[in-house]
Amino acid sequence: MLFALKNLNYGYLIKMLKQINFSINLKKPEVIIFDADNTLYSYELPNLKAENAVKLFVEKKFRIDSNLFYLTYRKAKKEIKAQLGKTASSHSRLLYFQRLFEILGFKVNLKIILEMEEIFWRTYLKNAFLYPGIRELLADIKKREISTAIVTDLTSNIQMRKLIHFNLQDAFDAFVTSEEVGADKPNPKIFKLLLKKLDLTKKSYMWMVGDNPKTDIIGGKNIGAVTFQRIEENNKESKGKYRPDFTFTDFNDIRGFF
Ligand SMILES: [Mg+2]
Repeated sequence: MLFALKNLNYGYLIKMLKQINFSINLKKPEVIIFDADNTLYSYELPNLKAENAVKLFVEKKFRIDSNLFYLTYRKAKKEIKAQLGKTASSHSRLLYFQRLFEILGFKVNLKIILEMEEIFWRTYLKNAFLYPGIRELLADIKKREISTAIVTDLTSNIQMRKLIHFNLQDAFDAFVTSEEVGADKPNPKIFKLLLKKLDLTKKSYMWMVGDNPKTDIIGGKNIGAVTFQRIEENNKESKGKYRPDFTFTDFNDIRGFF
């Protein structure tokens, strides 16, 4: 009975690489392009913990209550995003914290703002853990002599820090951030630069692995890549023009191909 149950579970797991687009015949790619945030690791918990750590710091220093902090932080974030559009710096916590001070009518204290940013990312990294199977998948890919790349939105400094934190600093053949091209995904500039770095063309056979339909899946489709969407409870399979070719919940499901 136990044996049967074990087999059943295994069968369930390996079926999780779900084919959505049946016109695709999966082949060994020349390159696998990965998104970073919420694809290699879960973004939500570290982000919440980091916001909370900054809140505690500000609360103590300036006697601002929790509600006012979150309300103002959300407003600051919205303003910076509206001001900068879809660019790397539109995600900058440093800019959000500076704007938070300005909205509150406080004298802008540059030292404190930099400290808030440092507290944010330090707490974030402390709570960021790679998803299971990713290291093993990257090792499998290397053995098959397939190139790997990271294409990610946000500034290069913190995205590099994240990969170093995960000890993945040598794991990818190319690395491109939206800061390098002045525009977030799915802007074609970011993918064009990646292809140039890897000496590939749009005709190359590529896979794109990401969580976000509006950036990774569309961006991948635009360069003709086979698209894989990482799905979970809070990130459902996308439909219509955002429809991926495959979905998966665990990197070990992709390993099944190799
Ligand atoms: Mg992502």
